[in-house]
Amino acid sequence: MKTSRDKALRPGEFCVRKHATDTALVHVGRDAGRYQGLVNVPVCRGSTMLAPSIAHWEDRKNNPDPAGSYGRFGTATTWAVQDAVAALEGGEHALVFPSGLAACTQALLAPLASGDHVLMTDSVYGPVRQFATQVLARMGIDVTFYDPLMGGAIRELITPRTRVVYVESPGSLTFEVQDIPAIAEVAHAAGALVVMDNTWATPLFYKPFAHGVDISIQAATKYIVGHSDALLGVVTANKEAWPLLHQSARAFGQTAGPDDLYLAMRGLRSLGARMRQHQESARYVVEQLVGHPAVRRVLYPAFPGDPGHKIWRRDFTGASGLFGVELHPWSAEQQATFYGNLQLFGLGLSWGGFESLVMPVDEPVRSVRPSGAKGPLIRLHVGLEDKQDLASDLLESLLAAFMH
Ligand SMILES: *Cc1c(COP(=O)(O)O)cnc(C)c1O
Repeated sequence: MKTSRDKALRPGEFCVRKHATDTALVHVGRDAGRYQGLVNVPVCRGSTMLAPSIAHWEDRKNNPDPAGSYGRFGTATTWAVQDAVAALEGGEHALVFPSGLAACTQALLAPLASGDHVLMTDSVYGPVRQFATQVLARMGIDVTFYDPLMGGAIRELITPRTRVVYVESPGSLTFEVQDIPAIAEVAHAAGALVVMDNTWATPLFYKPFAHGVDISIQAATKYIVGHSDALLGVVTANKEAWPLLHQSARAFGQTAGPDDLYLAMRGLRSLGARMRQHQESARYVVEQLVGHPAVRRVLYPAFPGDPGHKIWRRDFTGASGLFGVELHPWSAEQQATFYGNLQLFGLGLSWGGFESLVMPVDEPVRSVRPSGAKGPLIRLHVGLEDKQDLASDLLESLLAAFMH
């Protein structure tokens, strides 16, 4: 039974507060009574939404968020995803975007104005770095890249114009874990907002708003969609940042299509089960690689020897299936042998789907903290195949490459 206090909560929030995450994932955003008993919220297509009367039409003008009046402001399919992700992340409200990158850039644009200063992690997702140095710079917004390991020492880099600290933890390609509570304390004391890319951990393994984040981003393309068949971004804001995000994103006219939203909702239902398996298999594969004669270093915060392990253990409740491996130097021929031998790890961009992927990492672009790699870096995504098959695929290919 819902109590009167529960009734004040939005449906997604009710699910998440009252039940364990696995239960919430199954029930969040559903309302069978509204859709002929259908288990899933349907794919709602539409631009025009007719007003039932002139009184309703006039009333829409008084509503700052005219949801239910035009497709761009969302349909039942949109709201299901937004409610679910906002509740899981622990924020106030969420908006959807046509890709993860669109979510990143819109989350940055929402609070920023010409003359502002942004502190951005040096380990940021590459295309966001490009957006900052090319587009934000052109708009008169200064960007300083900071060492992802500096934690509260970021205080030294704050200026009176600093409006946003943009964090990503663990970082793209190099997987540094950041002390976000320490960073948030400094940022908030200076009147700046903390914007986080929380894609690696998903809302299941990291609760951004409980650690001081104001705006959180999910490249839902990865684990939330989970099947490599759609592009989608979701941005969640807390109460203070929501008006900024809402106003800015609406003005840009950004939203996402119904089929992609439906696929995200469908992916979300199994997110808990999938993440547990990604985690278990990734840990197993990491164990096989650590100490292997061809391997110099494994970059995976859940591994006890990792430099980020202490903070990861303090702040995260799990680890996903994505990590880096630094190998011993190899020739072009050895590289070709390695990739040519792999049968289960596909060579491709992105991650978070059911399938395992591998990717060579060119020296990551860094201005403060270089990767420190002396040998080739590769990035692995451990999918949902059998973990022993995956480990064998890697070990056999390493053996073939490093045998001579
Ligand atoms: C992939 C990715 C994005 C961008 O998502 P797209 O849907 O590909 O645009 C953003 N942030 C991180 C950390 C990513 O890995």
